[in-house]
Amino acid sequence: MRKHLLIFAVFLGMAVFVFFQARELLLVYYLLSPLWLFPLFYFLKEKIYLLFVLCLAGMVLIHGWFLFQHPQPRMFMLLMVQGALFFAFCTYFWELRRFFKIADERKENVRKNLESLQGKYQMRLNSLRHLETQVGSLMNLFEIARDFSECMDFETLAEFLLKKLKSELAFQTMRIFLILKPGQEDEAVRVKIYEMLPEGIQEEERELAAQERADFNAMKNTKTMLRRDNGWSFPILEGNEMIAVFSIHGIQEEDLARVEVLSAYLVLLIKKIKLYETVRELSIIDELTQVFVRHHFMERLEEELKRSLRFKLPLTVLMLDIDHFKRYNDEFGHLVGDATLKEVADLLKRNLRRVDLVGRYGGEEFIVAMPETRVANAAEVAERIRSNIARHDFQVYNDKTKVTVSQGIAVFEGDSFADLETADTKLIASELIQQADEAMYRAKEEGRNRVCLYKDMKRS
Ligand code: GH3
Ligand code: MG
Ligand code: MG
Repeated sequence: MRKHLLIFAVFLGMAVFVFFQARELLLVYYLLSPLWLFPLFYFLKEKIYLLFVLCLAGMVLIHGWFLFQHPQPRMFMLLMVQGALFFAFCTYFWELRRFFKIADERKENVRKNLESLQGKYQMRLNSLRHLETQVGSLMNLFEIARDFSECMDFETLAEFLLKKLKSELAFQTMRIFLILKPGQEDEAVRVKIYEMLPEGIQEEERELAAQERADFNAMKNTKTMLRRDNGWSFPILEGNEMIAVFSIHGIQEEDLARVEVLSAYLVLLIKKIKLYETVRELSIIDELTQVFVRHHFMERLEEELKRSLRFKLPLTVLMLDIDHFKRYNDEFGHLVGDATLKEVADLLKRNLRRVDLVGRYGGEEFIVAMPETRVANAAEVAERIRSNIARHDFQVYNDKTKVTVSQGIAVFEGDSFADLETADTKLIASELIQQADEAMYRAKEEGRNRVCLYKDMKRS
C-alpha cells in the first residue's frame, strides 16, 4: 500500500511540476511527457485499474488545459494520442479485467491442483509408510508364528503367546477356549480356558454362560469369526466340530488384519497340540479302564519317589487284584468281565485323591501310588475301597452280582536315604511294587477280600 501511495505521489508531483513550471519549459515537457506513462503502468501491472484510469484521465485533462493555454499542433497531437489511449483503455477496460480474471482463475486452479497433488502425494507417502510398518510387524508375526511350532502343550503356548505378543500387539486380554465336552445347541458346554492378561496367565475350567454358548453356536454354524463389543473370536473347527475358540479383546481396528494372520496360525497350532495330546493320552491312558498304562505309571511313580526323597515324605503303594476273575469271565463272558473291570477302576478312582496315581498293572490288577501318605492312612483307604467294591452291585445282563478284591500295601519312607545321590528310584519303585505284590498274594492266601501290609521294609 505504501508503494502505491509513493507511485501515486510521484505521478502527482510530476503533474504539479508540469502545471506550475512547464509553461516556460514547454519543449522539455514535450520531450519528457512519454515518461508520464511509466508510473501508470505500475498500477496496470498491480491491477489497480481505477488509479490507472484516474491518472490517464488526469494526464488528458492537464494536456487539454495546456492546449487551451498554448494552442500548438504538437501539443494537439500529443493530446490526441493520450485521448485515444484513454478511450482505448476505457473501451477494453472490461475486456482486460475479464482477461485478468480468467488468468487469475487459471492461476488459482493451477495452485489448487498443485495443492491437491501435494496432498495426494503426502497421502501416498503416509500409506506407504503405514504399509511398511504393517509389513514389518507381519514379518515379526511370521517369525513368532514359526517359533510357535515348538509349543507342544497349551500352557507353553499361552506363555509363549503372552511373552511374544506383549510387545507386538496392544490388547487387553487373549483367551484360548478348549472345548472339553461339546453339547448340543441348548446343552451345557464345558471348556478349559487359558486367559492371557498382560500381567500373567490364568487357567480356568467351567461351563459356558448362555451368551457365550450362543456365540459359540453362531461361530460353529457360520464357520467365521465373530465380533462382540471390542473383542474378536475365531472358531477352530475340525470338520463340522468346533474344538476350540481363540478370542482377543481390546485391539485396535487397524490391527485386525494382523490378528487374522495370527489366528490362522493358531488354528493350525491348536489342532496340532490337540492331536498331540490325544495321541499322548492314548499312549498313557488305558483305553478300557481310563487309568494310566503300566509304563507311564512307572515313570510317574519314579517322579513321586524323587519328590518323596527330596522332602523326606512317605509314599504308599497299593496293589489290587480282583478275586477269582477267571471264573467270573468263564461264567459271564469277557464282555461282562470288561464292563466289571471298568466299574472296579471307577470305584477305585472315586475313593482316591486327585494327587494319587492309578495304573493298570496287568489284566485285572491295578496299582496305586499315594504320595505323602503313611501306612495307617493307606490301610484306611484300602479298607474303604475293599468294602465299597464288595458292597457294589455289578450289572450282569438283567441281573446283579458281587465282586471282591484283594490288596497289598507297601510303604516307602522318604527319610530312609541320607544321601540322595545313592538313591536309585527305578530300583526303589520295582522293590516297592514287589513288596505290595507279595502283600497282595498274602491277602489271597489268607482268604481274599482283604488288605495285607508289607512290613519290615525299612532300609538301612
Ligand atoms: P485270583 O483270585 O487268584 O486272582 O484268581 P483269578 O481268577 O483272578 O486269577 P488270575 O489273576 O490269575 O486271573 C486273571 C484273569 O483275569 C484271567 C483273565 O481271564 C482275566 N482278565 C485279564 N485281563 C482281562 C481283560 O482285560 N478283560 C477281561 N474280561 N478279563 C481279563
Ligand atoms: Mg485275580
Ligand atoms: Mg491277577
